[in-house]
Amino acid sequence: MPAKLSLGRAFLQKNCPLFTRLLRTRNAVKFLMSQKLSTEIKSLQLEELGEMARRFGEPVYRTRQIADWLYRKRAQSFDEMTDLPSEFRNQLAEQFDFGKIEMVRVLGSRDATRKFLFRLSDESLIETVLIPASPALYGSRSDRRTICISTQVGCAYGCKFCASGLEGFSRNLKPNEIVDQIIAVERESGEKIDNVVFMGMGEPLANFKNLIRAIRIINAPWGIGIGARHITVSTSGLAPQIRKLADEPLQIRLAISLHGATDEVRDRIMPINHRYNLETLLSACDYYVSRKKQRLTFEYILIDSVNDSDEQAGLIARHSKRLSAKVNLIPYNTVYGLPWSRPSWNRQEKFLSILRDRGIAATLRREKGHDIDAACGQLRLQNEARARNPNLVKPE
Ligand code: SAH
Ligand code: SF4
Repeated sequence: MPAKLSLGRAFLQKNCPLFTRLLRTRNAVKFLMSQKLSTEIKSLQLEELGEMARRFGEPVYRTRQIADWLYRKRAQSFDEMTDLPSEFRNQLAEQFDFGKIEMVRVLGSRDATRKFLFRLSDESLIETVLIPASPALYGSRSDRRTICISTQVGCAYGCKFCASGLEGFSRNLKPNEIVDQIIAVERESGEKIDNVVFMGMGEPLANFKNLIRAIRIINAPWGIGIGARHITVSTSGLAPQIRKLADEPLQIRLAISLHGATDEVRDRIMPINHRYNLETLLSACDYYVSRKKQRLTFEYILIDSVNDSDEQAGLIARHSKRLSAKVNLIPYNTVYGLPWSRPSWNRQEKFLSILRDRGIAATLRREKGHDIDAACGQLRLQNEARARNPNLVKPE
């Protein structure tokens, strides 16, 4: 049959558009069949859990039951949800997924900073840091156990001093992968976390939608239940997203990774400054402060002979006054393979005293995790470099 023949010929000529289309569709179907068509249950908000229960013809109270299993009893499968009808549990298992967060390594001891390396469903590696009770981190009282969580695999912003950006950007974390870092660390450590800082790998405001979804679950009484004042988001300076965050009805804290008091210094170490310069960033901060009750924090890594001059300290004081911001000084944590180092003890103290003399609320935070490579991105970097070439990596 000529039609069949010509179709066959068309298939043999692989550049035929019909062939390409059919192949693409077949591949797409194969791909979809190989994937479980599901959504991660821990990415859903309470109202979405409710809508889902309604669609399955279940009563409204199932919503609370599921949330309770997920966030209070910390179930790891639908099978454990024994007070749900078994048919409903099966339907849930068909439609939804728990995601995977598997602990690969942990560094550090019980009463010191501990760092966890996790593997996700697609084999991506992320890291999470648990910091034991410490005095007044980010405005919260002492005696709080703080978790430092990642929001992306890698980072696209390439700050010159940071390990997270060294391997480039892979992908955004999904809301459940952000929330699960808290659940997994509480499970592994047996500790109750009461302070969350988004200062792990990645730029949180570049993953805005998933970040806000995750924060709602972390903050909600039906979720993890950590108060908004004990949640801090850190950004390298994505000015438009700072304004967007200011319009969100959440009273979370914001930290700005300033690391330079002039465009000249920021341009040198933070490529984001070429896109949103210092004044654009500070005016977004003005807007944030005008909308929120919380005070802003400037993070300032002290890097030897880069940003640690008296002049920089004086200008930081000026910016802080403008925004009534606190300043958190952090001596640079050396990253293996990068040329930067922390200034001398005296220089650090001098920088701090200039700020304090001008009436700025400033702290000098001597990193607890210095000895275990706790600066963001370093553990993952080590692991991946070791896999490629064991001789390249600093001995532990
Ligand atoms: N991308 C966001 C949040 C993750 S980085 C941001 O940049 O704010 C969290 C903090 O760790 C930032 O203040 C960052 O500048 C800091 N940091 C990165 N590398 C560091 C290092 N080697 N030593 C000390 N702090 C570091
Ligand atoms: Fe990314 Fe923050 Fe590291 Fe800069 S400091 S590369 S924005 S994670």
